[in-house]
Amino acid sequence: MLGSFCLSFPDKFVFNSPIAPKQRWARSMKVLIPAAKIQSRVVELALQIANDYQDRPVTIIGVLTGSLIFLADLVRHLNLHLRIGFIQASSYRGATTSPGELKVGPELLPDVRGRHILLLDDILDTGQTLNRLVQHMQTLGVASLRTGVLLRKQGRQQVHIEPDYTGFDIPDAFVVGYGLDYNDEYRHLPYVAILNDAQ
Ligand code: 5GP
Ligand code: MG
Repeated sequence: MLGSFCLSFPDKFVFNSPIAPKQRWARSMKVLIPAAKIQSRVVELALQIANDYQDRPVTIIGVLTGSLIFLADLVRHLNLHLRIGFIQASSYRGATTSPGELKVGPELLPDVRGRHILLLDDILDTGQTLNRLVQHMQTLGVASLRTGVLLRKQGRQQVHIEPDYTGFDIPDAFVVGYGLDYNDEYRHLPYVAILNDAQ
């Protein structure tokens, strides 16, 4: 049943295999978290979130583009009074900006004033993105603010930020799949994989 939405990936590969299916378009990669494991962890997180919010209406804000798949799967397990919005965050390097400076694009952000906000991102690496977005949201007069990430890279954090919800701790490697990209590819993979030749 679960596998029926991704016809191009046979179930035995997609849901439990440690080996990424060989596709002509894919670089060499190794599955780190199989799809079945992600799906069951997402259900656990949803139960925890539903229990924490209960009767409080919540607005889930996904950080584009990486949180897309995580958010889409998570919200379908949430029996809550719920709104969904998005925010853009991109780090850019240029002559006039310091490396990694973050540009926040709030155009898709719904009204958050006085609302209970859950900010969702794909991965916590240095922590700069989430930290900057938390600061941004706090200037907007939210009633409460929590954060959730699917992945948290070990040994990389530069700023102190403790997500309220974390899916998996992972080793320091460049990962793709389940929303995470390499040059905007591989976001659609239902598992998380380590890209062997990422630069
Ligand atoms: P941070 O600001 O915490 O250093 O980085 C967070 C952002 O960097 C994530 O939202 C994601 O876009 C990107 N990122 C960090 N590590 C990885 C990774 O291993 N794979 C991919 N695809 N993106 C990553
Ligand atoms: Mg991101």
